[in-house]
Amino acid sequence: MSDNPTPARPTQPFRIGHGYDLHRLEPRPPAGHGKPLVVGGVTLDHGLGPIAHSDGDALLHAVTDALLGAIAQPDIGQLFPNTDPRHESQDSAVFLEEAARRVRAANYDILNLDATVILEQPKLGPVKAQIRARIAQLLAIDESQVNIKGKTHEGVDAVGEGRAIETHAVVLIARRI
Ligand SMILES: [Zn+2]
Repeated sequence: MSDNPTPARPTQPFRIGHGYDLHRLEPRPPAGHGKPLVVGGVTLDHGLGPIAHSDGDALLHAVTDALLGAIAQPDIGQLFPNTDPRHESQDSAVFLEEAARRVRAANYDILNLDATVILEQPKLGPVKAQIRARIAQLLAIDESQVNIKGKTHEGVDAVGEGRAIETHAVVLIARRI
């Protein structure tokens, strides 16, 4: 795995991290090049899917960047370049687990994660609990430390027209005493 120079080891008792992602959605083959729509490690039944080098899991990408951002480390695109053939259709769980490993290696624990998925269709409600459980499992934390919100974009702009999925994530980490 490519790696960047490690920045100075953070020492603050609490640190916050923010992550954002967006993937364009296209029809699934043969009509388009959309991959299966995976959100938070859960595959949704939908006629559209993300254009991506990896599996295009926008939620896991935002959470990964939030974790890496909290410890001031290089972002997901720097750690896992989309020019690297090893990441072709990669399960994004690999990225998230590496980010969580780095947080722990920096001597921090994850306190909580709050994330928002903006997706016009399908509705996230029926799978929210499953997504929450999967992310908690990947981060080795309790489900009570993970919150996932689903929103639509009210039919406006590309996200509202169903042509993209957008995600935001915030994490709080605490230095191990
Ligand atoms: Zn992404």
